[in-house]
Amino acid sequence: MSKITGSCHCGSVNWEFYLPITTVLQCHCSMCRKLHGSDYSTYVVVPKEQFLLSKGQDSITSYQATEASHKNFCSKCGSPTHLVNGKHFPDDLVLPLGIVENYIDELAPQIQVYTSEKARWSHIHDDVPVFS
Ligand SMILES: [Zn+2]
Ligand SMILES: [Zn+2]
Repeated sequence: MSKITGSCHCGSVNWEFYLPITTVLQCHCSMCRKLHGSDYSTYVVVPKEQFLLSKGQDSITSYQATEASHKNFCSKCGSPTHLVNGKHFPDDLVLPLGIVENYIDELAPQIQVYTSEKARWSHIHDDVPVFS
């Protein structure tokens, strides 16, 4: 079983998860754009029981973004660490792919979502199927 690890920029928060994952998606929605300040967000969605927050529980701040979702981030450096999306993925955690340390091909994006909300300066990826 492959172990994937991730950490925030300052290293206070570390986590790990095990394959197989649920999916990897690129979200073009306006909420993710605001939450991360990026053109779009790429997330690896992992069943909760395969995830372990190995370091830095005390360094995490939680922000309730909607009734069913919240964003956890490092209170020292601001990196998003793990998100909860109770509407679409109630049994999973939503992890920013950008903070993964040992990327492997199994984590390649599988779908794109909320493409109707994409930033005007951003482009849909031709090589990733559009789901919504
Ligand atoms: Zn940090
Ligand atoms: Zn989104």
